[in-house]
Amino acid sequence: APKKNVFEFLELPREMPRRIPLALRRDGDWGELYGRFNDEAARHQAGRCLDCGNPYCSWKCPLHNYIPNWLELAREDRVHEAATLCHETNPLPEICGRVCPQDRLCEGSCTLDDGFGAVTIGAVEKYIVDRAVADGWRPDLSRVVATGQRVAVIGAGPAGLSCADRLARAGIEAVVHDRYEQIGGLLQFGIPSFKLDKSVVQTRREILEGMGVRFRLGVEVGRDLSLDALLDEYDAVFLGLGSYRYTDGGLPGQDLAGVLPALPFLVQNGRVVGGVQPQGRPIAGWEDRIELPDLKGRRVVVLGGGDTGMDCVRSAIRLGAAEVTCAYRRDEANMPGSAREVGNAREEGVRFLFNRQPLELVGRDGRVNGVRVVETRMGAPDANGRQRAEPVEGSESTLAADVVIIAFGFRPDAPDWLAAHGIELEDDGRIRTSGERGAHPYQTAHPRVFAGGDAVRGADLVVTAAFEGREAAGGIARLLRNGGGRRLPVPEA
Ligand code: FAD
Ligand code: SF4
Repeated sequence: APKKNVFEFLELPREMPRRIPLALRRDGDWGELYGRFNDEAARHQAGRCLDCGNPYCSWKCPLHNYIPNWLELAREDRVHEAATLCHETNPLPEICGRVCPQDRLCEGSCTLDDGFGAVTIGAVEKYIVDRAVADGWRPDLSRVVATGQRVAVIGAGPAGLSCADRLARAGIEAVVHDRYEQIGGLLQFGIPSFKLDKSVVQTRREILEGMGVRFRLGVEVGRDLSLDALLDEYDAVFLGLGSYRYTDGGLPGQDLAGVLPALPFLVQNGRVVGGVQPQGRPIAGWEDRIELPDLKGRRVVVLGGGDTGMDCVRSAIRLGAAEVTCAYRRDEANMPGSAREVGNAREEGVRFLFNRQPLELVGRDGRVNGVRVVETRMGAPDANGRQRAEPVEGSESTLAADVVIIAFGFRPDAPDWLAAHGIELEDDGRIRTSGERGAHPYQTAHPRVFAGGDAVRGADLVVTAAFEGREAAGGIARLLRNGGGRRLPVPEA
């Protein structure tokens, strides 16, 4: 490999892979926005890393990826070794490389972010794994000794998939159950294809199956199959159920025609775009309630400033809406979503109205035609440290709208059958676990049941769900090694 030039960051600017031209996006192109680096660009971008003695990027990455080490392997074009190292810490690296809000995580703490442009960590992570997998590289489990133990994973979202990956590496058979007939959870039915092409999820499924992970899809636990039956059949159970209870804000007028909840809108639309009509169960009974309106030429207002809101506004643009407005009650600095995604939305023509709190949805003849909002100013921080939005008296106005999409977020909706097994919940409905420390991370009040991801944290990120799935698998493996499973562990070969 060419010798490292430590001044590469001065000679070469930070560059992201090429993006789909704006005109095509506005014309309804649903392809992934960012392309892939060619080999030379990837080597150069990876070569910009300073290899800091104390890499803040690794600390800030929730998985604590060995970022400088795989960047160096990528610079040296040792892509298969880089892919192996990526997988040491991250069961879903090509997915995180695409969807992590890097500006808030690894790249936001890159030393070069201070004036030189952070290393494009996420894009290189995606490049490494995409290229290695296309070349035929696969995780090497040839030295893994099968323990004969089996674990049922409920939920094929990032938490469940990560857990299954780590179990397979520990010689434990993982059987992943999901009520949908495709894997991925929100990766498949939530995040739009312009952020994550669904073929990426399919490729990950093939990789996991190659590692021995099995999927039982179209099966809803608690309905088609009981937790009791799973505890009988398996040594332990992992719950990666996600967080799907819709927060609607209780606004007057939310039942008017033309008012849509965000997730069913994204899910239905994703199906239309992907040309699939899976037979899966509706998400909390919503999907059968929503009919996708034609947005062509319409005025769309999206309420909410998180990732889901950004996905809705950008989907509305691709669906040909004449005018797309995002109304958010705090200011831009307090937006929870990724700054990069806000930038992309703005470039695609979305109008942002900050400091606007919705009061009511107004309409005529049963159809929405506007949103009454009040202006806000930023006040004292709340319990989470985020500044409160305080309404300014006398500043009400009405935004014209043909369609309103409500994207206020989700709360966990732990199913009733958990309590019957002594699995405890937090006051806000999240599943209570032992957390990341201790001998058995993410163990619930039932010793053989573990849990992680959005159902435990509340709606969060793919990378944090992956972290909890990974750690829980470590806890399960330790429990089973020490004889805590249903059956006695098989002695090591
Ligand atoms: P999920 O992905 O929700 O998966 C849970 C799975 O469990 C589902 O497949 C569900 O069908 C299954 N399940 C639940 N109950 C049962 C049962 N009883 N029986 C069988 N199966 C069951 N995060 C990012 O990092 N970047 C982003 O850009 C991003 N964009 C997002 C956009 C949208 C629109 C949304 C809604 C979320 C976004 N997120 C993003 C958040 C991210 O998708 C979630 O934090 C993550 O998917 C949580 O993973 P999980 O495995 O805990 O749950
Ligand atoms: Fe960055 Fe996410 Fe990859 Fe970690 S997993 S290095 S935060 S892109």
